[in-house]
Amino acid sequence: MIKIQHLTYRYPGSDSEALRDVDIELPPEHVFAILGQSGSGKTTLLNCIARFLTPTEGTITIDGTDISSMDRKQFRSCLGVVFQNLNLFPHLTVMGNMVLAPIKALGKSPARANQEAGAMLEKLSIAELADRYPAQISGGQAQRVAIARGLMLQPRYMLLDEPTSALDARTTADFAKWLAELQQETCFIIVTHDLPFARQAATHGVYLNGGKVQAVGEIEKMIDQQTEATESNEA
Ligand code: ADP
Ligand code: MG
Repeated sequence: MIKIQHLTYRYPGSDSEALRDVDIELPPEHVFAILGQSGSGKTTLLNCIARFLTPTEGTITIDGTDISSMDRKQFRSCLGVVFQNLNLFPHLTVMGNMVLAPIKALGKSPARANQEAGAMLEKLSIAELADRYPAQISGGQAQRVAIARGLMLQPRYMLLDEPTSALDARTTADFAKWLAELQQETCFIIVTHDLPFARQAATHGVYLNGGKVQAVGEIEKMIDQQTEATESNEA
């Protein structure tokens, strides 16, 4: 469980808070969506959870441990991040991308890392991509490869920032199904403004507005309430 308590973040030099007293519990074994309009604080929240930003106030714990007290290795084994621009190395094949962190960060032998990467690609049904370079695969395939690469470190939680921004509707639907199949082992936390995708992929979510939690809970109910609230405001 990721527990966020009284989280406030103010960018240096800014006179307003990008996140204000945010309290959220992200249960394990769920796909959790962070929703909200542009400027509502989604990326700031993701960056606080990923430790790229240090909260101005409040705490974030993962399975009971404050993330600020974890060493780098402990933190990386808890939580992985896949960014919007994916950061696949263009000069390495899919396999080359997959084995880099296990060899460099975990000290695995190349033979062992290759074997594990092959098994991971197989498990995620993308084994045929192993020898291709990032320029030779589609956007949807690259998104899966980036997640597969992140899963090589076996994090319990994985943050995905706008994973469908480069995908068309059909690929997005396939991707949502694919993610749902992986959720038993890894808990995904998805930052997205794509409501149809959130409905397909997530079970729970939070809706941010002006840096505050506007709604939190089961995804269907939350999106329905949100849509009604927006429509009644506009009426
Ligand atoms: P979202 O991801 O939901 O679009 P952000 O987390 O990027 O929202 O932004 C939340 C608020 O913080 C916005 O008001 C934005 O202008 C502000 N903000 C974002 N990044 C910075 C920054 N580096 N410096 C100052 N203010 C920022
Ligand atoms: Mg953002």
